[in-house]
Amino acid sequence: MNTPSRCPICESETLSDFLFRGKVPIHQNMLMRDQQSALNVPRGDLTLCVCQSCGFIFNRSFAPPSSMYGEEYENTQACSPSFAQYMNRLVEHIIVDREVRNSHVVEVGCGNGLFLRKLVAYDGSQNKGFGFDPSYRGELIDLDGRLSFANRYYDEQCADVPADVVVCRHVIEHVARPVDLLLTIRRALVRAERPRLFFETPCVEWILKNRVMWDFFYEHCSYFTAASLTTAFEMAGFQVDDVRTVFGDQYLWLEASLTNIRPSVSKNGEDIVGLAADFAKSEAESMGWWREKIRRLSAGGKVALWGAGAKGATFANMIDPERCWIDCIVDLNPAKQGHFLPGTGHPIVNYSDLCARGVETAIVMNPNYREENFKLLSQAGLSVHLIDQI
Ligand SMILES: [Zn+2]
Repeated sequence: MNTPSRCPICESETLSDFLFRGKVPIHQNMLMRDQQSALNVPRGDLTLCVCQSCGFIFNRSFAPPSSMYGEEYENTQACSPSFAQYMNRLVEHIIVDREVRNSHVVEVGCGNGLFLRKLVAYDGSQNKGFGFDPSYRGELIDLDGRLSFANRYYDEQCADVPADVVVCRHVIEHVARPVDLLLTIRRALVRAERPRLFFETPCVEWILKNRVMWDFFYEHCSYFTAASLTTAFEMAGFQVDDVRTVFGDQYLWLEASLTNIRPSVSKNGEDIVGLAADFAKSEAESMGWWREKIRRLSAGGKVALWGAGAKGATFANMIDPERCWIDCIVDLNPAKQGHFLPGTGHPIVNYSDLCARGVETAIVMNPNYREENFKLLSQAGLSVHLIDQI
């Protein structure tokens, strides 16, 4: 394997490893139809490294497998009402506050196309959309030809599709060479009158400060602070107009435009190095604490995790790899129910199955969904005790 000796963002050589986890599942969101395939999932190492110059964090051992995000990849969160509401607010922000109308919108990594569809179908927006994603399943042309999809990765060849606006949410953290992706996108935007980008990615400061160890996993090879995300865009010749945290500070939202003058590149990695070291020091202790807590809870009744996304998959693999204490994983996405968690083989079920399985406690993997999970259970008259993971 070709291990990078320079920072993929700023090319500095002042890199330091701070966390190692051997043989972790390379998939967190892949649909596993039977328990054996879930247990036999391919594995890779997680060697997290921080650039002391720009603060970028990346998995130095990452080797992208050829079929990472095909049709068996399932990562839609839109089944959650509060996530759907969050997406609607973002759409409103782009169209109303940022006046994205009469525009060609390209979405890089559009998933099932739901977000792009909202941007195009928004009343009076007159937008046209083109989405790229290898895991996209559905009609390739829709909304009377205003919405198109291509079932593929976004690469150099796609940059010929003209764009005024590029939207790219939760993609850049899956890319080992983020600046190359940004340079490709830049090519698609050069002909636009008012080129703009809207990006969203997890905020690594939130992960480190809140000690959310299950937010580091193989599918994400690149982790950004507001500063290192800004550096990446500046390296690719973009001007960063806004960068801030959203979704309860868990994500970074960045807006950029294209400038003819090459912007100066800012680097600010100092703060993150200490945070990363503290996080790594506390990891073994946190794992011990959780194992003990779940062991104690499971002695009084069955325990489930709520959320079979990457957070739940990583938590289960770290805390209960042999399926000793966690009975099952709840997920609202019907495409995941009836399948098995990659790496551990825990069954994925609907919340309505919890009582029949004798589950007494569910650990909510994302605090942003606690309220809605509580409501679902009370409306269904189910008595399951919910606890937060942070
Ligand atoms: Zn760097």
